[in-house]
Amino acid sequence: MAGKIVVLGTGGTIAGTSDVPGASVGYTAGQLGIAQLLAAVPQLAQAARGPLVAEQLAQVDSKDMTHALWERLVQRCLVHLADETVAGIVITHGTDTLEETAWLLHNLLPTHKPVVLTSAMRPATALAPDGPQNLLDAVALAAEPDAHGVLAVAAGVVHGAREVAKMHPLRLDAFASGDGGPLGWMDAGPVRWAHARAPEASVPRHGGLAARLGQLAWPRVQIVLSHAGADGSVVDALVTAGVVDGLVAAATGNGTLHQELEQALTRAAAAGVAVCVASRCPQGRMLALPPDAPWSSAPGLSPVKARVSLMLQLMDR
Ligand code: ASP
Repeated sequence: MAGKIVVLGTGGTIAGTSDVPGASVGYTAGQLGIAQLLAAVPQLAQAARGPLVAEQLAQVDSKDMTHALWERLVQRCLVHLADETVAGIVITHGTDTLEETAWLLHNLLPTHKPVVLTSAMRPATALAPDGPQNLLDAVALAAEPDAHGVLAVAAGVVHGAREVAKMHPLRLDAFASGDGGPLGWMDAGPVRWAHARAPEASVPRHGGLAARLGQLAWPRVQIVLSHAGADGSVVDALVTAGVVDGLVAAATGNGTLHQELEQALTRAAAAGVAVCVASRCPQGRMLALPPDAPWSSAPGLSPVKARVSLMLQLMDR
């Protein structure tokens, strides 16, 4: 018999409901249990190819995602990935921070089995909800023998953890993969990979950290934005208050910073705060800073993903 597919429910709009019959906006995320979501899609049994198991991890609106829930999610994924009867994992998640969770998991989990995040833009009670189809696609993708690693699927498009980003506040196809483009599509039945084959499994950068997460404090890493009129006072205030271990500077263009913000970051770095620069441009990738630069850079990562990476680096040393 084919392996089990485990579906971990964390909440989000996919589990959301509205008091207004049929409404697509003005709802409450994270209301229906994962068992109810699965029961609404009878086709899942066939798509899973084997047993389908549900586990409710949380019921949150993902705008309120916490490090504690991330820890629990990593722990449960590790348990299921180590179980030889499990073929793949699906995580139902809100769209707002899905890309951050995907990047965290990509950096921590072994990638030989697929871990597929899915979501919805409309609540389960909408006139035409998108959650059921997304769930079906996610389960089918998790049951694909050649799918590996952390993936996201929504609106029929398969994204990789590095590129995926929420680009639209309302549209059903809210996610995009920038210059890299999607990894594939779920048209009808099996996945159609963009490059005719599945992406290779890769070694997670902080794999050794995953099992130790619960014993470590999460570093305090904030994001500061470079913009017209930036004066660096936020950076100075954070450093003076002693409430920050790391800073991600969301830089303009190819990693450039307002000179006043740059001076404040130089003072922060001198005070022992880890500084990393990521471009605020949603497309393309900034060039890496030279090795003698006063701080690190995160080419190809958005500031929110660079923040995840900086936290893991600080925990993993
Ligand atoms: N605020 C919701 C969430 O991220 C949005 C969604 O799921 O679409 O949980």
